[in-house]
Amino acid sequence: MPNFRSKCPIRRPITTPVNSHRDHKPDLKIDFLSRCGYCNAHDEWKTTYYEVDHFIPENILTIKTTTDYSNLVYSCRSCNNSKRKKWPSNDENIPNNGNEGFVDPCEQSYDSHFSRRDTGEIDHVTNLGKWMYNALQLHKPHHKIVWNLENLNEMIKELKILENSLDNAPEIKAKLLEVYSEFTSYYAQLRAL
Ligand SMILES: [Zn+2]
Repeated sequence: MPNFRSKCPIRRPITTPVNSHRDHKPDLKIDFLSRCGYCNAHDEWKTTYYEVDHFIPENILTIKTTTDYSNLVYSCRSCNNSKRKKWPSNDENIPNNGNEGFVDPCEQSYDSHFSRRDTGEIDHVTNLGKWMYNALQLHKPHHKIVWNLENLNEMIKELKILENSLDNAPEIKAKLLEVYSEFTSYYAQLRAL
């Protein structure tokens, strides 16, 4: 079974004063490796506009400021809109109680709440994961489609290299055409959402 994500994002300790949390977006894009912190979709597919999410919602904050970099997440619009002001504990210091609430995507343990099917769908594997899955609407079809597009794109790159080195081996060409056809099909599905 594929991993939910291959790398855990790491926020640098950025303390540059900014006027708006959105001013941190370029740095967040770097630290989150151009991926949504919650669903791990890469922004190259442009399924949605990417935004800056407050991990702890603004209305809950009493200690941290709204521009505090340590509380920001690079997020696709789908996850950001789904999450909105959800914060069951209503306490800035309690992100979750083990069954409901959120885990900061920059914590390695975020991965342990989810898995990925061979066909690309995200699954939840813990109670807290189930709560986050529903809160973030991780069942939405673009999560599966984007995962497949990314994998197929990598396969196309590898096959293209093989094709040249194997002097146009017909089986490589056939596989390349098959993968490319699958890629274009998923891309059409994505555009139709
Ligand atoms: Zn997302």
